Amino acid sequence: MTSPIWHPFTQHGLGEPIPLVTRAEGAALYTAEGDRIIDAISSWWVTTHGHADPRIMAAIAGQAGKLDQVVFAGWTHEPAETLAAGLVAMMPDPLAYVFFSDSGSTSVEVALKMALGFWANRNAARHRIVVMEHSYHGDTIGAMSVGARGVFNQAYQPLLFDVATIPFPEPGREQATLDALEAHCREAPAAFIVEPLILGAGGMKTYTPALLAEMRAICARRGVLFIADEVMTAWGRTGSLLACDQAGVVPDILCLSKGLTGGAVPLAVTLATGPIFEAHLSDDRARMFFHSSSYTANPIACAAAAANLAIWREEPVLARVADLGRRQQVRLDMLAGNPKVANARRLGTIAAFEIEGAAGYLSSVAPRLMGFARERGVLLRPLGNTVYVMPPYCTDDDDLDAIYAMLGEFLSSE
Ligand SMILES: *Cc1c(COP(=O)(O)O)cnc(C)c1O
Repeated sequence: MTSPIWHPFTQHGLGEPIPLVTRAEGAALYTAEGDRIIDAISSWWVTTHGHADPRIMAAIAGQAGKLDQVVFAGWTHEPAETLAAGLVAMMPDPLAYVFFSDSGSTSVEVALKMALGFWANRNAARHRIVVMEHSYHGDTIGAMSVGARGVFNQAYQPLLFDVATIPFPEPGREQATLDALEAHCREAPAAFIVEPLILGAGGMKTYTPALLAEMRAICARRGVLFIADEVMTAWGRTGSLLACDQAGVVPDILCLSKGLTGGAVPLAVTLATGPIFEAHLSDDRARMFFHSSSYTANPIACAAAAANLAIWREEPVLARVADLGRRQQVRLDMLAGNPKVANARRLGTIAAFEIEGAAGYLSSVAPRLMGFARERGVLLRPLGNTVYVMPPYCTDDDDLDAIYAMLGEFLSSE
């Protein structure tokens, strides 16, 4: 029987296999056919500690026995209160308010609406958003509008809103990026949104903490709201709790999702500073923040995230992350000797390189490598000719060896 399911980012016309997964634990997925698959991309960047973390699973089960769901407009519940207090305590100081949503994309939509509302409620005509070239912020219309234009959103381009784009700071060309930001900020835009230190879907492109700090300083000096999209980079992915921590910067608005629940269930938050909350504070209902979704702050998802925060408080997560980074680096260094490997780089737990001679997102090397990996028990999803390894923090040496041996074998077979 063929399935009625329409999968995301899948060309069903190619008839590629769609394995049936029945169980996950630690660094691996298990299929109905009995195969163990190493999850080398943390199930699309969400799984942090490992699959089915016992503390997070227990929190979900416990909460499911108490309160499943309640409207969050005008009502509250203990898992949301615990989580919000925990987030404010854990995140940098001025980020004192927590708004809940369900995915990275919606956390970005909320961030953009907060920034626009901030200016609208001050009667300032500031609507323009400044973005960085090659950025990715999600697949809803607003999130696509502030992201890179390409084959992924060509059909929708007539509806995407205009933004001001600064060039990606390629090594040696950083000043052009700063100059462009400075120039756009002089035109009084509403906000600048950026992925700190590494552009994920844009090809795992990295830039320095010093540059992030300079961009933050320009926005502060020009009174432009600084939105950090840490949907991928937070929760230890880049080696620190937030990527912003490495630059010593604090955004006005912060987007978190993916690893917020350890990757177990969907949840997102957008954190804001006092002035952004206060711009919406009034005895006039017309100035409230007009945003909600049916499952805002779902109690079961909040309980999972609260358990993740407890893990962060009580376990040496950053030490695990540093160790995984070092163990990836050794293997990446060995692979980098291969002439087909270009621009090998690593940030925290993320290792990446380009395959020489293959180009573009639709380049055929990506599906070939994906299939090659799947047949050898590894889940990998290259971004065109950019290959990256982003495993859960519990991944052991045997699994890392298997991932990198498979990559070496593929490169020799090309
Ligand atoms: C994945 C991602 C998003 C979108 O998150 P979804 O949960 O897939 O909607 C937004 N921003 C960044 C930086 C991401 O990596």
